[in-house]
Amino acid sequence: MTDSTGRAGRPTPPVPLPVDRRVRLDTGWVSVPVEFVTAWRNAGIAVSLDVDDRAEHGRDWWPLTQAWAIHDGLLPSVPAVVVRPTSADQVAVVLRTCNEAIIPVTPMAGRSGVCGASLPVHGGVALDLTGLNGIRSVDRVSLLVDVGAGTFGDVFADELRSAHRLTLGHWPQSIALSTVGGWLSCRSAGQYSTRYGKIEDMVVGLTAVLADGTIVETGGSAPRSSTGPDLTQLIVGSEGTLAVITSAVLRAHPVPTGEGRSAWGFTSFLDGLDACRRIMQRGATPAVLRLYDDRESKRSHATAPPTCALLVLDEGDPLIVSATLEIVEQEARALGATPLDPGLVEGWLGHRNDVSQLASVLQNDIVVDTIEIAGSWANLPKIWAEATKAVLAVPGAMVCSCHQSHAYTDGACLYFTVAGRPPDGRDRDAFYCALWDAATSATLASGGTLSHHHGIGLNRARYLPAALARGFDVLRQLKTALDPAGILNPGKLGLPDRFGPVGWPAP
Ligand SMILES: Cc1cc2nc3c(=O)[nH]c(=O)nc-3n(C[C@H](O)[C@H](O)[C@H](O)COP(=O)(O)OP(=O)(O)OC[C@H]3O[C@@H](n4cnc5c(N)ncnc54)[C@H](O)[C@@H]3O)c2cc1C
Repeated sequence: MTDSTGRAGRPTPPVPLPVDRRVRLDTGWVSVPVEFVTAWRNAGIAVSLDVDDRAEHGRDWWPLTQAWAIHDGLLPSVPAVVVRPTSADQVAVVLRTCNEAIIPVTPMAGRSGVCGASLPVHGGVALDLTGLNGIRSVDRVSLLVDVGAGTFGDVFADELRSAHRLTLGHWPQSIALSTVGGWLSCRSAGQYSTRYGKIEDMVVGLTAVLADGTIVETGGSAPRSSTGPDLTQLIVGSEGTLAVITSAVLRAHPVPTGEGRSAWGFTSFLDGLDACRRIMQRGATPAVLRLYDDRESKRSHATAPPTCALLVLDEGDPLIVSATLEIVEQEARALGATPLDPGLVEGWLGHRNDVSQLASVLQNDIVVDTIEIAGSWANLPKIWAEATKAVLAVPGAMVCSCHQSHAYTDGACLYFTVAGRPPDGRDRDAFYCALWDAATSATLASGGTLSHHHGIGLNRARYLPAALARGFDVLRQLKTALDPAGILNPGKLGLPDRFGPVGWPAP
């Protein structure tokens, strides 16, 4: 599938490939026998052994691994082969073989994940799912869209709008870098999520392939059902460890006919948070409701401290939009906010999908990352205060700024940006882990959740058992039931890994 300009989506490399091809995470590396390659090719499945192709499929957008590439010339990992299926049947053929031969398979698509979730840390097969693309059908009456899992976000949005006058309303910053299957696998959130929901709210059903090659369909065409546990939601968020998603049925919406914007300045971040709570609890759901602390307000919107900017945008039926903006105004004023230039929203819209800044910060050998968590309104003030204090107490930490990016009636997502330089004698990875440990421990101790939408991958794997407590045993048993040979995306989510340690802190 291509967009209206004829452009087909493809992964965007985060930084140039390092010149030499040394690999940082290379323990328990598994090769793929040549007879399998021949058999797959004979079955019409594309297989690549090309060195550059394999190197590209050994990395994603995890910021630390970009620093490894820039400063140390290291790749995070490298698969033995890259396999590019174009149908669920082809995925099934590959999985069946790997399951019998116990070869690790890492599903991947846009490779825009920021936690190392798609790194093939044990070699084996990089299962590139971007060939499973395109809109398969549109139900114009029910507004349901059946789409291939490997479809890139920008191409999908463009085709939906131009050919069907529909929108999903899902606009992650990485829209041009990521795919439908990646969104579902990581429980992605778009920038308009307060009106349209996260991806898990948009999905009605899936087609997926289990580790033994069985093709299953979950959900279907009914809006809700009472047919036991929700198998769609079991696979959603499993980051390629339980099944490979090949297509999904998603809810769409008519292209909006109305839009409204406003911007407000608070003198305290906590007052701004309280205004967001009151807006949500009155039943207003402005598509965008983003509140920045004074540091990020100054950096991103040139406001003068102590101003904390709240940017608001809503779209949809004009009647609903105007009522929503009215409620926003009432609650903002009730908390002492003053109006800011609504042009700030225009400015944000103009640069919101610019993903070029990270590489230039990393070039300066500054360690930087973003940490998105969520909590209830009751817990958010404590999470914000404790996480900020803990990060800034790490020797070498320079920045811990925050914005509220996604809001609900019961709580919100806080999105921290952390940065610093390792103090003398401390290596980059240890410093990076110390920043993450500080933010994560403080968040969990204050009642927050580990991740709101970036997922777990490799970087956060060490925290998941503690975060899920006894629930983690249930996840482990599900993994054993669905993937008894343990071939699907080993090394991720803190699950037992039959191929051995990865070379990154484990649970
Ligand atoms: C600059 C930047 C901005 C970002 N902004 C956002 C944002 O606003 N919101 C947000 O939610 N995320 C954001 N992200 C994170 C990332 O884009 C998302 O996690 C996205 O959902 C990943 O999709 P992908 O296709 O790139 O998946 P990949 O990175 O290729 O894979 C991610 C995980 O999903 C699994 N997977 C992928 N496809 C399948 C499949 N078909 N079946 C089974 N498993 C699969 C992989 O095994 C891996 O575990 C951002 C990333 C960057 C670099």
